[in-house]
Amino acid sequence: MLRVENLNAWYDRSHVLQGISLEVKKGEIVTLMGRNGAGKTTTLRSLMGLLPKKEGKAFIDGVSFLNLASHERYHLGLAYVPEDRRIVPGLTVKENLELGVIAQKSRGDMGVMVDEIAETFPRLKERLQQDGASLSGGEQQMLAIARALIAKPKVILLDEPSEGIMPVLVDEMFELFAKLKDDGITILLVEQNVQQALKISDRAYILDQGEIVFEDTAQNLLSNDEIQQKYCAV
Ligand code: ATP
Repeated sequence: MLRVENLNAWYDRSHVLQGISLEVKKGEIVTLMGRNGAGKTTTLRSLMGLLPKKEGKAFIDGVSFLNLASHERYHLGLAYVPEDRRIVPGLTVKENLELGVIAQKSRGDMGVMVDEIAETFPRLKERLQQDGASLSGGEQQMLAIARALIAKPKVILLDEPSEGIMPVLVDEMFELFAKLKDDGITILLVEQNVQQALKISDRAYILDQGEIVFEDTAQNLLSNDEIQQKYCAV
């Protein structure tokens, strides 16, 4: 579904990603792990076209997209939820969700689409008329994910969704990811919460200094303390 070949990226003259290759098959959850500064966020940002200088190839369903504009990638079925969530203050939860509809190429009935997504996110359903910025951190994260999902993406890139969120909501969020996987959505996940991420993942890649240094099934990695200590201790 998502294939990345020899991705290189730079911030100014700093060569941050040094030949990343990875694959996420349809319906898989794959976690990208690694210490702070390893290049996880940069990988997702490069795939979304947010870095001025990059080289390599990336495909969704065999369609090469690295040289497409961000909105074209979006129409190919690639969605991105950045770490900072980007909830628009002054807009209600409902209006924030509607932005996800507006961004779509073939817009359906906005009301129906918002209602549909609200069914999956009961916390949001109760708060549709509330200012998006007044939600808790975890609820804002849910809103950002719901807004991305409204476009029915094929692949969703999630950057640190559990960051700064209270544990009960983190559990809810991981349950949601497992459910999305059952619905056939493909997920590339960046998470510091390694144990919880691995429990719902199929496979994982470990990044270190801009290179993939290890990959294995999530099940094997869960019991591999040595690798976790070496590459994932914050
Ligand atoms: P974290 O968990 O801390 O976000 P990460 O694995 O996501 O870590 P990146 O944010 O991708 O790491 O950073 C990779 C490298 O690129 C780091 O050395 C970082 O200092 C550098 N970097 C990140 N953003 C920029 C930027 N805007 N300008 C210059 N260098 C940057």
